[in-house]
Amino acid sequence: MSAESPTIVWFRRDLRLDDNPAWAAVDPVSPTTALYVIEPILFDRAGTFRRDQLVAHLIALDGELISRGGRLRVEYGDPAHLVAQVVNEVGAAVVHANADATPYSHRRDTAVHRARASASPRPVPRQTWWGTMVHHPGAIQTRKGTLSQVFTPFWNTWAATSPAPWPDGSGPRSVTAEPGHGLPSAPTTTWQPGGEHAALDRLEQWCTQVDAYPEVHDRPDLDGTSRLSADLRFGTVSPRRVMEAVGLGTPARLSFVRQLAWRDWFAHLLAERPSLVTNALKTDFDRIDWLDDPTALDAWKHGRTGYPLVDAGMRQLLATGWMHNRVRMVVASFLVKDLLIDWRQGERWFRHQLVDGDVAQNVGNWQWAAGTGPDAAPYFRIFNPVTQSKKFDPEGDYIRRWVPELANLDRRSIHEPWSLGPLELAAAGITLGSDYPAPIVDHRAARDRTLLAYAEARAAASAETDTEGAR
Ligand code: FAD
Repeated sequence: MSAESPTIVWFRRDLRLDDNPAWAAVDPVSPTTALYVIEPILFDRAGTFRRDQLVAHLIALDGELISRGGRLRVEYGDPAHLVAQVVNEVGAAVVHANADATPYSHRRDTAVHRARASASPRPVPRQTWWGTMVHHPGAIQTRKGTLSQVFTPFWNTWAATSPAPWPDGSGPRSVTAEPGHGLPSAPTTTWQPGGEHAALDRLEQWCTQVDAYPEVHDRPDLDGTSRLSADLRFGTVSPRRVMEAVGLGTPARLSFVRQLAWRDWFAHLLAERPSLVTNALKTDFDRIDWLDDPTALDAWKHGRTGYPLVDAGMRQLLATGWMHNRVRMVVASFLVKDLLIDWRQGERWFRHQLVDGDVAQNVGNWQWAAGTGPDAAPYFRIFNPVTQSKKFDPEGDYIRRWVPELANLDRRSIHEPWSLGPLELAAAGITLGSDYPAPIVDHRAARDRTLLAYAEARAAASAETDTEGAR
């Protein structure tokens, strides 16, 4: 393979040219095809917010390539077939791409590799990088050479480890101006402006706010988090660039960068154990007798549970495709531990709706909330949705924004409107049960029911272990 050999950069979750190892690794003199495959299995299943955001990012990436005399070549369909086809068509000598930790991406890449091997008269090497994470899976290990199942030791090693070097070239000088099938039409609005420049602007803005992170990051009523999750999900900014820009110089900055370590950790866990998408890590809890309650599930999805903070979060998700992290924790706990509905149902809904929907992060966090995952909240720790609401939305402003029918309630009663009598409610313009739902479940009774269900699952598992031991 000579330096001038045609090269393909297959973009996936790395929609940027800045700090992108797959791009930087290309020899500057190689004529390069910048490829993106719209995979119907992913594209059609994503909710509108994520799909539109993706298209906005792709349009911006195409614009970036046009300014360099090239185009983003966009194809639609099964990559196993399409990548092999483009390899043969352009006579590519190598394909560069960034890897992802999901079981789907692993299966897809294996299928692409096989298809390429059978379609091409000569093997075409692929070069894979981990440009989607700070540290790649396998880089952060315990002294025994394993992945820590507890976050804090992982974090300590993560923070003390220098990231493995990435190629630092400037990328190809010549990009093919072949648009392929072209891009879908531009969405009318998106959650955030598309493209890496907009992402870097967001990062720059965030660097002026980050020092307040520890005080405000848990407050959904304040704009106290970076809102970089969708950029990290689509790769319009590299996590290393984020870490570098923020730095580790103050406790506040360190606490923010710690979140990037959670992100890596969940991805490393999934890479090591693909079954986490469908199975509890603590396998005893796969025996929980979950309730099949479509009415309650629907009320949760649409923000009609009668618990104001839960409803505010679910409505924010429906309206914007994003939800504040503290509220994600509360609504997830509510689904699993108040409604006793299987965490997989919530994970699926979030994955569909979220603009930053990311299998590793979503599954990791859902298993955390359900108490079934690594380093998870103990199963018996059950969030009280009213206490959480009073603590993290003290004035009720977040609730007022998303549940406007409660806007006239004062800062004390807005968290639990049922605590007021009908006359007080009427004075605020509310009839419980018609303007706003009465609680669909009693938290205290639900808590007891959940503790029993979890305890029964554990007892059933240990009874089986005892029986097996006796055999
Ligand atoms: P910041 O507080 O500014 O954090 C900076 C970055 O750190 C985030 O952008 C994110 O990449 C990472 N991060 C922060 N918190 C977490 C966390 N708990 N786990 C992993 N990474 C984290 N995040 C996703 O990116 N995709 C998901 O699909 C997703 N699903 C979730 C489901 C549940 C039930 C819960 C409780 C959390 C989920 N999260 C998910 C994590 C977190 O809620 C979001 O990353 C965060 O709210 C994004 O907002 P931000 O960028 O302003 O976060």
